[in-house]
Amino acid sequence: MNPEHVPVLVVGAGLAGLSAATFLGLHGVPALVVDKHPSTAQHPKARGQFPHTMQALRIAGVDEDFLAAQPADSGFTIKIAASTSGPVFTTILAGGSPDFSAFSRNAWANASQEKAEVILLRRARELGAEVRFSTKVESLAQDSEGVTAVLRELPAGATREVRADYVVGADGHRSPIREWLGIGRHGRGVLSESVNAVFEADLGEGFDGRNVVFYLQNPELPGSGGALTSTDHRNRFAIGVGQVDEVDEQRWTELIRIATGLPDLEPKLVEQNSHTTVSALVADRFSSGRVHLIGDAVRTMPPHGAMGGNSAIMDGFHLAWKLAMVVKGQAGQGLLDSHDSERRPYSEILVEQQYANMVQRNSPQLADGSEAELIDPALTILGYRCPTGAIVREADDDGALFEHPAEPTGRPGSRVPYSESTVDIFGRSFVLLTASSTWDEKAADVAGKLGIDLVIHHVQEDPARYGVRRDGAVLVRPDGFVAWRGEGDLEAALRTALAR
Ligand SMILES: Cc1cc2nc3c(=O)[nH]c(=O)nc-3n(C[C@H](O)[C@H](O)[C@H](O)COP(=O)(O)OP(=O)(O)OC[C@H]3O[C@@H](n4cnc5c(N)ncnc54)[C@H](O)[C@@H]3O)c2cc1C
Repeated sequence: MNPEHVPVLVVGAGLAGLSAATFLGLHGVPALVVDKHPSTAQHPKARGQFPHTMQALRIAGVDEDFLAAQPADSGFTIKIAASTSGPVFTTILAGGSPDFSAFSRNAWANASQEKAEVILLRRARELGAEVRFSTKVESLAQDSEGVTAVLRELPAGATREVRADYVVGADGHRSPIREWLGIGRHGRGVLSESVNAVFEADLGEGFDGRNVVFYLQNPELPGSGGALTSTDHRNRFAIGVGQVDEVDEQRWTELIRIATGLPDLEPKLVEQNSHTTVSALVADRFSSGRVHLIGDAVRTMPPHGAMGGNSAIMDGFHLAWKLAMVVKGQAGQGLLDSHDSERRPYSEILVEQQYANMVQRNSPQLADGSEAELIDPALTILGYRCPTGAIVREADDDGALFEHPAEPTGRPGSRVPYSESTVDIFGRSFVLLTASSTWDEKAADVAGKLGIDLVIHHVQEDPARYGVRRDGAVLVRPDGFVAWRGEGDLEAALRTALAR
């Protein structure tokens, strides 16, 4: 019997895998998603969706669901303190997030990872993905025509083969797929280990129903520090402290009293002794043949800055349109080479930014001058560029990896300059922005010849904003990045961007 055949097999139903499946579905390619766990995440992990993530989630039609999933008080507070009762050393956020409304219609959201995964799971299924839990990938073998995966139903069920044209490895930081492909990682390695608990207690005014993160610097805590965060449940908190060994119930009570500065507190332990390893590592390559890695499989970083979950979702967003166009025969396989060249340089910077955040926020003892200078979050969120990738690079491009979204250039490899009037036209296909109707027939002919969807949108504003003349045009990719601009050969530009 021939094995089941699917266009794309996604391994891992975390934020990265479910995002990839959702956006693949949006682009008309139903994926098979498998995960060895019986369900989506059950434990408090990531929280928070940044404006770029919310823009992508709006394209998927779920931004409102994310807003609805926020805690009652969605304001976010991040403090560095000895305990939640103080003294507070630094307030990083005080119930709000930076205002990016000048260059993003979508603002921030604060849904938890548990809720985020449920929303993405539902949407991925609605858009045609088949998601099978309790299903482990035991091996992958690829040849020039496709990839054969051996799946085992858990616990200890039968194995069966699936044949996929492409595989997305969204299998988390241990990534067996990365290991099977022989792809190494580089970076600062393991930075810290913590043991964690979840407890219920009334911490008083200012905590109930709020979104709080306290980075604790306190010599009475193991490793002199830890973190205490709110969860989706009122009066329920997660705590992590800097040691590997498990802690008994009485010691947890002592640690929670130190962390809260409330010596008489009687916390009720809900979970105890899960472990977290914090590391800063980037995969040496993000792709190998027909297998493309995303999420924690390609980068791990300290949680300080909350980019782990956000970049996992964005990896799925940026990879899906490329995979879909290749699967549909609209692009050459070379388009997929840009997954590595576009996402890896950005990932290297994100990891170093979060490491620098961690040193500043709760590991000052690690400061040795090797930390990156912290850059404006507007750059890492809405200003990153891909000067090398699925674009027609301009001769004078300086290769900068960032440009401020308040001063957009419109050059290829950059996010298209933000405008209220165009924000809703990006996401599903290539778009040609122009002020001139002379492009209409030409663009329709080229789209027909190449067999792709190309939306032509007449802009009202001065095209100089995009760096083109009145008779020029700007070609925008489905992920909202500029592929090409100018007055010349649109077909040649599309062929370059799509590796045809
Ligand atoms: C305590 C903690 C706090 C965090 N806080 C934040 C935060 O505030 N903000 C933020 O943005 N990020 C945060 N992160 C990071 C964030 O949780 C991760 O970056 C994110 O979950 C990565 O998603 P992923 O889909 O890549 O990987 P995962 O969520 O790890 O998913 C990988 C999936 O692959 C599956 N899998 C693995 N091997 C196989 C196999 N062989 N077969 C089938 N399935 C397999 C696993 O079962 C798993 O479900 C935090 C992480 C932790 C642990």
